[in-house]
Amino acid sequence: MSVKRLGAELERALRVRPKGAPLAGRKSDDTPGCDDKKRAGALLEANRARLELLQNRLHAESRRSLLVVLQGMDTSGKDGAIRHALTAFNPLGCYAYAFGVPSEVERSHDFLWRIHQVVPAAGEVAIFNRSHYEDVLVVRVKELVPRAVWSRRYDAINAFEHELAERGTTVLKFFLHISREEQRERLLARVHDPEKHWKFREGDLEDRERWSEFRAAYSDALARCNTAWAPWYVIPADRKWYRDLAISQIVADALERMDPRTPAVTLDVPRLEKRLAP
Ligand code: ADP
Repeated sequence: MSVKRLGAELERALRVRPKGAPLAGRKSDDTPGCDDKKRAGALLEANRARLELLQNRLHAESRRSLLVVLQGMDTSGKDGAIRHALTAFNPLGCYAYAFGVPSEVERSHDFLWRIHQVVPAAGEVAIFNRSHYEDVLVVRVKELVPRAVWSRRYDAINAFEHELAERGTTVLKFFLHISREEQRERLLARVHDPEKHWKFREGDLEDRERWSEFRAAYSDALARCNTAWAPWYVIPADRKWYRDLAISQIVADALERMDPRTPAVTLDVPRLEKRLAP
């Protein structure tokens, strides 16, 4: 399958549709568009080259920006996707930001305050490892605020993302979809590998115990905040190689559609050649 056809297939298979339950019938070990790991590796490399070139142009153009939001349960591969698919970006003009439990200062503001401070400026790419969606996910499941508070947030998020889009930020949102069984294996790998012990927090098991509640919260967030200006994609993420390919493809295609241009500069080449004569 060509890169172009793969892009069309991923849009069809992974983009959340306007109607219906966003997670119904989706398998976390699916591989639409590419079921061959070796081929996926070659396509990923091709996409990394596209990401590098297009980001360079976005940076040079310095008018618009790109925001990539990564959400998913623990071990779903948010860090891995950044490392394998998105490090093709030049750190000059790109940054990743991880949102943890809000600080006291952050909690004393509205929930979008801390987000707004780190959205990408013109010419920049920002990658969010977790995001404002935590405020309708963990906050809802663990009842950290009353229902009346979190239930208003979907509209607030849509308005916020609309504002970003209006000022030239392309917003792409990825839910990394893993199965409960796959999570069990990844958590066990952490337990068995001393190098990974630092990543293991026993508290994370509480989220695992509330798997179906998180799934319901994700389903609502994906349904209610899937807008034309900030679409959601459900990435089957049990297979890491597929996850990386799908994300690299969707991000590269979006950048291509943005079509960033380096500023048109007319140089007097003969004159400059003369000045650069040995
Ligand atoms: P990660 O698990 O992503 O590798 P951390 O160990 O720092 O990173 O965990 C971040 C934790 O912060 C997660 O458990 C997440 O649910 C929590 N968190 C993020 N945003 C919020 C929020 N707005 N309110 C409460 N908890 C949050």
